[in-house]
Amino acid sequence: MIGERADALSLECYVIGGWVRDLLLERQSKDIDVVVVGSGIKLAEAFAQSLGKGTHLSVFRSFGTAQVKKGTIEVEFVGARKESYHRESRNPIVEDGTLEDDQNRRDFTINALAICLNKERYGEMLDPFGGVEDLHARIIRTPLDPDITFSDDPLRMMRAIRFATQLNFNILPETFDAISRNRERIRIIAKERIADELQKIMRSERPSRGWQLLDRSGLLDIIFPELSALKGVDTREGKGHKDVFLHTMKVLDNVAAESDNVWLRWAALLHDIGKPRTKQWEEGTGWTFKNHNYIGAKMLPSIFKRLKLPLNEHLDYVRKLVDLHMRPIHLVEDTVTDSAVRRLLFEAGDDIDDLMTLCNADITSRNEQKVKRYQDNYSLVRQKMVELEERDRIRNFQPPVMGDEIMQVFSLPPCSLVGELKSAVKDAILDGIIPNEHDAALAYVKKIAAEKGL
Ligand code: ATP
Ligand code: MG
Repeated sequence: MIGERADALSLECYVIGGWVRDLLLERQSKDIDVVVVGSGIKLAEAFAQSLGKGTHLSVFRSFGTAQVKKGTIEVEFVGARKESYHRESRNPIVEDGTLEDDQNRRDFTINALAICLNKERYGEMLDPFGGVEDLHARIIRTPLDPDITFSDDPLRMMRAIRFATQLNFNILPETFDAISRNRERIRIIAKERIADELQKIMRSERPSRGWQLLDRSGLLDIIFPELSALKGVDTREGKGHKDVFLHTMKVLDNVAAESDNVWLRWAALLHDIGKPRTKQWEEGTGWTFKNHNYIGAKMLPSIFKRLKLPLNEHLDYVRKLVDLHMRPIHLVEDTVTDSAVRRLLFEAGDDIDDLMTLCNADITSRNEQKVKRYQDNYSLVRQKMVELEERDRIRNFQPPVMGDEIMQVFSLPPCSLVGELKSAVKDAILDGIIPNEHDAALAYVKKIAAEKGL
């Protein structure tokens, strides 16, 4: 239909880029890009009209682009263009151009494929850089000199690594070397754009690939030095510790295999972020990372802010998981008491299952017996959690006696004593002194109030 409209206007047009790539890869793809030799806006207008009622057309005159939406269809029209860049910015000077000019400005050979939509040449593939071959060989390669491609628009370095991760492709060595050489240029890119690419890496099947490529290219040092700081092993008196970066990569992939929750994946990536700052050598003990969970959790707001990740409930969630990630292990190292399990349930609330997924993923020892022992212990903890939750309903703890009732019974005004009595009840329930029930709780409040001489 687009082709017919274009023929009527005597405009050459092609579907190009991601949609063609995904078609050949048999991947789902929702946005369609159409490039028009001439005015993209004119064709968009004609196409929108032919679709009739319920069609939404948005025109962006200053960019020479237009978008047509109807139901789930979304087509972006753009005039073929030629771009030239200045060193200081990733915003190019844009002129009208040919299809070939337009393909030259594309980032990778696999993203430069175009299929003609005009009737006479319908379905003809235009592949000037061997993109189809690269798709089959699973290679990411720039169409032109990679140093120019990356220096012109350094976001493409992030895109290369993101596509390699998302599609499980390899970056051609010459292309990859150019990323390393141009890495400092990443500094001119808006943090939001980098964050978008990082999120796409995190949503991939094996996100560690992206982080490893970022590390090897030297980009990681620039965009996320705290993660880079996890690398390496110190040895003293013949004792080394785990390479925390490599361990983190395993934990991340383990979690990704279990869950699509991107924030749980971030928690996995960040769970040991406090280790470098807390690392100490202790005579007789060896390497220690005391309170690394707590210090790690404290580092997160500034990391999220700098990376332009959202400073909302997602941050709170990641912070909570990082903070609590050592609790289940401490729990199984001692004897598993009901009281400790109740306290963990209380603090984790509805995120308890995610926390246990993270903790299971955190067991990365090569010693199979050790792995089995930990996993068995965790099953024990989970079983206890289920039992206690059934009995005491701690996960979404609501105090069985409210402040209002306490004030009424003891004729108290709102004061700190009311809070103290409430928290005494909470502790008594978590410690298993009383059941999580109204009458028992009220009796308990009366008892301690009497002790306080009320
Ligand atoms: P996805 O939609 O899965 O992120 P995509 O390849 O469709 O992948 P888009 O950002 O939608 O990526 O861009 C559409 C097309 O525009 C790309 O296939 C590519 O040809 C071109 N493109 C996008 N960003 C750039 C860029 N920074 N430099 C050069 N070409 C680009
Ligand atoms: Mg796209």
